[in-house]
Amino acid sequence: MAVDGLALAPHQTVTDDGIIRLLLVDDDPDNLVSLEATLHGLADELVTAQSGPQALRHLLEHDFAAILLDVKMPEMDGFETAELIRKRKRSRHTPILFLTGYRSDEHLFRGYDLGAVDFLFKPIVPEVLRSKVLVFVELARNSRLLQQQANTLARAEQRFRSLLEAAPDSMLISREDGSIVLVNSRTEELFGWPRDLLLGRNLRMIVPDWCHVGQMNNIELQAIRRDGTSFPAEMTFSPLQTDEGLLITTVVRDISDRKRAEEDIRRLNATLERRVAARTAELMSSNEALRQFGWAASHDLQEPLRMVVSYSQMLERRLKGELEGETKMCLDYVVTGASRLENLLAALREFMHASDTGRHHLQLVDCATPLKTAIENLQSVISASGAQVTSDQLPSVMASPVLMVQIFQNLIGNSIKYCESEPRVHVRAERKGAEWLFSIRDNGIGIDPRHSQFVFGVFRRLFRDEYPGTGIGLAICRAAVERLGGRIWVESEGVGHGSTFKFTIPVADR
Ligand code: ADP
Repeated sequence: MAVDGLALAPHQTVTDDGIIRLLLVDDDPDNLVSLEATLHGLADELVTAQSGPQALRHLLEHDFAAILLDVKMPEMDGFETAELIRKRKRSRHTPILFLTGYRSDEHLFRGYDLGAVDFLFKPIVPEVLRSKVLVFVELARNSRLLQQQANTLARAEQRFRSLLEAAPDSMLISREDGSIVLVNSRTEELFGWPRDLLLGRNLRMIVPDWCHVGQMNNIELQAIRRDGTSFPAEMTFSPLQTDEGLLITTVVRDISDRKRAEEDIRRLNATLERRVAARTAELMSSNEALRQFGWAASHDLQEPLRMVVSYSQMLERRLKGELEGETKMCLDYVVTGASRLENLLAALREFMHASDTGRHHLQLVDCATPLKTAIENLQSVISASGAQVTSDQLPSVMASPVLMVQIFQNLIGNSIKYCESEPRVHVRAERKGAEWLFSIRDNGIGIDPRHSQFVFGVFRRLFRDEYPGTGIGLAICRAAVERLGGRIWVESEGVGHGSTFKFTIPVADR
């Protein structure tokens, strides 16, 4: 950063256009020609002048690595010319080599007084001339290189400073002990301190817990403004070894807004959690109320209904033969209606049972066993319909044997029931990732895909009169499958194309 140290020493001559020139001054054209020949190739350009005034004119246009000046010239001699050269600011330090025939001390003193750097005595020895001039040419070349480096450095520093200024975060460069060397304008804004009051102060004045142990990212610390108020900040410390020792760049970002937003989110989450908990409690209590209602309906209605059924049957028996016409029909309706209601209540009890989560203890069940039981239970409908029920190898799953029997029995029973003739039912299971996918496929009447959700509801039926039933079988299957951690659905190409009921059960983890 300290480019000053690299600035050129004032005596060094550098041409603006980077071309290294030598000025040769002699009133004798022949001498000039031989000087040119001797120095050929040494500098980029040799400029000649035949008089002092002419030399001075050249000096107005260019800087020179060195001037070779003949002492004895008419009109204005070398010494006079040198005096004028030295008077001009631009050429004050340009090295001058005098060319002279006299070897007198007085001569030498005068020359050195006028700032000569050397004398060359005529007749000139070409090797001596070349080697003396070469020194100055090289000096000029090196100066030029140094100047270029200095320019590059200055440009880099300029870029660095503008980057620093453009940074959206506050950036401070400090020494290892925390004393501040450089800050950007964002720092002034953020902390309320003008730059000149921060330079030289310790970073701990504005970040009391500032410390660094190598590179550290996203450290959260409190920062203090000039007015004494503080704010949460996120910081990054990057140490850099330089010629001036270890420098640490500290980047400070005000995270008050983020903190506030986080706090808001935390508060909202807490509120949300409270509301969800309250809502869940509400739902649970209304669920429980519904369950109790279902339970009461299915059990408590049983007794009075039994009475209606028994007494109407008794009436039917006693009045047998005496009843006729409409009266007989009415009594028949009572009897069938009441026994239908009995069936519905029994089905509802079964559903309440299946969906009672606390009731079923899960164990490893080989599905072949509940399938066998279900088929045995369905034996009479199977033989009456001539159905064929087949199955692939089935897995063992974590389940309750009772629930598995219910699932198989309801699905296979439906497949046989909802079939016009020669029912064919096939049961299979395949592993899909962490689940077993069961499917029960039939060749029955099929289901319109529009109703594929509907049929799983309680008391939901598609054909009320053509087929007997309560509309609860699939609701039981759904409750049972969900209890086992799975899902159930039906796929069908539509009416007349058979149905495939599918359900999943998680793979037992052992
Ligand atoms: P239920 O059979 O007692 O009517 P379910 O809950 O078992 O009650 O079935 C609901 C409805 O779904 C049935 O009424 C029927 O319309 C339809 N359904 C069930 N299984 C099948 C099937 N395998 N093929 C076609 N329709 C079916």
